[in-house]
Amino acid sequence: MKICIVCEKDVEGKSAVPIKEDAVIRTIRRVKQFFHIAQGNELYVCEEDMPKHMEKRRGFERSLIFFGVLAALVIVLLLGTLLLSGHFDIGAAVFALAVGVLILLFAVVFNYAPAIEEKPGIVGGKKAPLPEALEPLEEKGEAAPAGARKAERKAKPARK
Ligand SMILES: [Zn+2]
Repeated sequence: MKICIVCEKDVEGKSAVPIKEDAVIRTIRRVKQFFHIAQGNELYVCEEDMPKHMEKRRGFERSLIFFGVLAALVIVLLLGTLLLSGHFDIGAAVFALAVGVLILLFAVVFNYAPAIEEKPGIVGGKKAPLPEALEPLEEKGEAAPAGARKAERKAKPARK
């Protein structure tokens, strides 16, 4: 079944964008297969839930950065403390790393929102709209490829 991950409804025949299969999704799927509770659903975000999902995704990206910095700080502090107190060894380094990984895992478990495919999905023959953040460049009058734009910018001062 093709279901929306936000409203958990069937998106067959509706506009929806498929989500990206990332490491978290694959892990969840594997765990579910292990326990024989996998439903084999294809995961989408439907058109109505797109704004909600994009907001959640942005929140997840922000928290990942926040917890990433926090994890790095904690690792440095832990290692620094262990070094200064003369208790530093391989076990201490592994412990510090494990604490960092746990902090990051915390961010993923509580805020996870998957990325969506950058190409619009077609469900039931209807073309799904791209979310605002992913609008094709052509529509904003920036049809020129990045390389051409760069060349243009470089050329400008010389044109005087
Ligand atoms: Zn939905």
